[in-house]
Amino acid sequence: MGNGRMNVTLANPRGFCAGVDRAIEIVERTLLYLGPPVFVRHEVVHNQKVVKELAEKGAIFVEELEQIPDGSTVVFSAHGVSKLVREEAKNRSFKVFDATCPLVTKVHLEVSKIARDGLECILIGHAGHPEVIGTLGQFDSKNGGRIYLVETEHDASELIVRNPTKLALVTQTTLSVDDTQNLILILKNRFPEIQLPRSDDICYATQNRQDAVKRLASVNDLVLVIGSSNSSNSNRLRELAERIGCKSFLIDGPEDLREEWFFDKPRIGVTAGASAPESIVKAVCQKLITMGGTAPEEESGIIEKIKFSLPKELRLVPSVKKKFRS
Ligand code: SF4
Repeated sequence: MGNGRMNVTLANPRGFCAGVDRAIEIVERTLLYLGPPVFVRHEVVHNQKVVKELAEKGAIFVEELEQIPDGSTVVFSAHGVSKLVREEAKNRSFKVFDATCPLVTKVHLEVSKIARDGLECILIGHAGHPEVIGTLGQFDSKNGGRIYLVETEHDASELIVRNPTKLALVTQTTLSVDDTQNLILILKNRFPEIQLPRSDDICYATQNRQDAVKRLASVNDLVLVIGSSNSSNSNRLRELAERIGCKSFLIDGPEDLREEWFFDKPRIGVTAGASAPESIVKAVCQKLITMGGTAPEEESGIIEKIKFSLPKELRLVPSVKKKFRS
């Protein structure tokens, strides 16, 4: 690290959001309630360590329902699923517990309504992300029209729609707030009558963590973002720190830290994406201490109080020791 100790500051808020907390709790309680195996369609949240621990408790992660025997117990991940997947689950007599984040469900309901109203829909999001696949799959084209995915400024500038006066917009929940505003501006210029969501589709947790990483990146020499490489909101945090001019790395845990990153970097900021457990934040801070870091200081920030309720059937199942969260 060069000379002297590294000063370590923790972002606030960081780590688990209410949707991730609920999704993990649903898998844990389903395992207690019905016993293994519990099949989970897609990684319940995008974090390797969380997925590994749940797998050790008896969860089986699959990508498609065809990998699951009829009549099994299935949990849908926090990212949500298309209408077709829901229908298939029903036809195959699966017992389903839905861990879709309620804020993703809100976007699903918007898309369904847009289709029912006979409008076309633009979704701003990242192609191939499971949330985007699920949201695209909410649009019922029986009234005509379709749903278009816009990912880049080029897409927004070139998009051709059937009728620019009958158009509405939704977004993925975990995008960069600033990039999304740019795309919305382009679309509003091209399609002045486009209907925007009443409240922002980008969720509170994404917004708060991006605000916090901006503060962190503006006063530190290096920002470590704890999160897995397939976590959309974690990647956005790293990009944002770099955009502000601060070197930033995305790490899964302490094992990824490299001595050479810290040379001549006396001020280190640490944050965590919405799917990264606090236990890993602690492990990273411990490792930083062995590498010459100070005990971490918490940045003051917003206190998040949002909590989502569990599916009725699971509410009486006792909560599991919150290992990931401590
Ligand atoms: Fe829900 Fe936002 Fe968390 Fe995704 S990041 S699970 S949308 S609260």
